[in-house]
Amino acid sequence: QVKSSKTESYALYDETLHQQERRKQELELALRDSDFGRELKLYFQPEYEPTGTTLIGMEALLRWRSPALGLVGPVEFIPIAEETGLILEIGEWVMKTAMEQIRDWNKRYETEFFVGINISAVQLQNTGFVGLVRKLIEETGVNASQLNFEITESSTLNPNGAAVSILKQLSEMGISIAVDDFGTGYSSYGYIKRFSIDILKIDKQLIDTITTNPNDAQVVKAIIAMASALNIRTIAEGVETKEQARLLKKMNCDIIQGYLFGKPVPAEEFADLHLDKEECEIIA
Ligand code: C2E
Ligand code: MG
Ligand code: MG
Ligand code: MG
Repeated sequence: QVKSSKTESYALYDETLHQQERRKQELELALRDSDFGRELKLYFQPEYEPTGTTLIGMEALLRWRSPALGLVGPVEFIPIAEETGLILEIGEWVMKTAMEQIRDWNKRYETEFFVGINISAVQLQNTGFVGLVRKLIEETGVNASQLNFEITESSTLNPNGAAVSILKQLSEMGISIAVDDFGTGYSSYGYIKRFSIDILKIDKQLIDTITTNPNDAQVVKAIIAMASALNIRTIAEGVETKEQARLLKKMNCDIIQGYLFGKPVPAEEFADLHLDKEECEIIA
C-alpha cells in the first residue's frame, strides 16, 4: 500500500516537473521568436501624492501577448528572459519605448512626469549599459531626471561588484535609483548606503497589512522615517484602500501607487484617466 502510493507521488512529481520544464521551453522559444513591436506593450500605472490630488509620475510595466501562447505575465516570462539573456534586448526595448512615451507626453503637457522603469540585475551587469542609456536619452531628448530605474533587491547584486559603479554613473547622469519591493528580501541599511539610492519602493506585501497588523504598521513607519532621515523618498506599492492611503499619509510616505489610484493601463488610456483630467478630486 504505502509503497505504491509513494511511487505514485514520485511519478506525479516527475510529471509536474516535466510540465514546468516544457512550459518554460515553450515560453523561451516564443520569446526568442517574438516580434517585440507587435507582441510587447508597455502599460503605465500612476503614482500620486498620498491624497490623490497630484500625479507625480508612473511606472512602466511590461505586457506580452504571444500569438501562440496568449497573454503571459511578467512574473512568468521575466525570469526566463533573464536566464536566457533575452532580457538585454527586451530591456532595451522597454527603456526606448518608455522614453519615447515620456518624450511625447513632455510635448503635450506642461509637467515633466517621472517614469519608473524596471531594470534587471542582468542588464546592470552588462558592460555598455551606461552607454546605451546615455544614447537613448540623447535620441529621445528626455530629461534624465524624469527617469527612475527600479532595481529589485537581489542576492545577485553584489554590493562590492561592478553594479556599484554603474549605479553611481547613472545617478551622476541625473537618473533616480529606486530599490523595488523593499522590505521583503535582502535589503539592509548597508545595501542602501552602498548603492546610490534615491527612492525606496515599499513592497505590497508589507503594505497589505498595515491597517490590520500594528507590528507591520510600525515597520512601515520605521522604514519611512529611516528613508526620510537619509533624504530618500518613499513610494508605497499596492495601495488598494483609502484607509491605507490615509495611514501612509500620516506616516509621511511621499508617493502612493496602487489600484486605489489606478491599475496599469496602456498609454492612451493612461492619458485619458490621469493626464487629461479636468480637475482633481481628492480620492483619499
Ligand atoms: P513591480 O516592479 O514590483 O511592479 C508592481 C506590480 O504590482 C505590478 O505587477 C503591478 O501591476 C502590481 N500592482 C500595483 N498595484 C497593485 C495593487 O493595488 N494591487 C495588486 N494586486 N497589484 C498591484 P506586474 O505588472 O504583474 O509586474 C510584476 C513584476 O514584473 C514587477 O513587479 C517587476 O518586477 C516585473 N516587471 C514588469 N515589467 C518589467 C520590465 O519591463 N522589466 C523588468 N525587468 N521587470 C518587469
Ligand atoms: Mg517596479
Ligand atoms: Mg515593486
Ligand atoms: Mg512588488
